[in-house]
Parts: sequence; C-alpha cells; structure tokens
Amino acid sequence: MMNNPTNIMTRTDWTVIISALLKQVPAKAKRSESGLYYICPACNKFIERNESAHGNIDIPFCKWCGQALEWEKQQ
Ligand SMILES: [Zn+2]
Repeated sequence: MMNNPTNIMTRTDWTVIISALLKQVPAKAKRSESGLYYICPACNKFIERNESAHGNIDIPFCKWCGQALEWEKQQ
C-alpha cells in the first residue's frame, strides 16, 4: 500500500539528491596556483579543460564528481 515505510526519504537521501542537483548548476573551474591547470570547484581535483573524448570543446562536467563546469573565455 501507499504507506510502505521503505518509501520514506531519510535525511541522507535528501542530502544526496540536493548535492546532485547543485552539481547541475555550472560553477567556475578554478585555476591552479601555477595557472597551468584547472581544478574542479566541487571536488578540488585536477581537471583538463579539453579532453580528446569530448573533441576540442570545453568539458561540460567534472569527470570525477559530475560537477557542471563554466569556463572563462579563452584568449
Ligand atoms: Zn569534481
């Protein structure tokens, strides 16, 4: 029936869902201190701006955590 207790969302479930939704809001990729690399604003791992798997376009998502990425204009 409708009130099956296994359908109740826990706080952990909500945390997972909300953090997944937030990752769909593009966040600016950070530059490493040296300026040579980019860092994901969500998981702080190194990311490459272009990867062969995506052709020569800016990657839309962090490959580690799925954070949507926004890139500064290329000079
Ligand atoms: Zn990430």
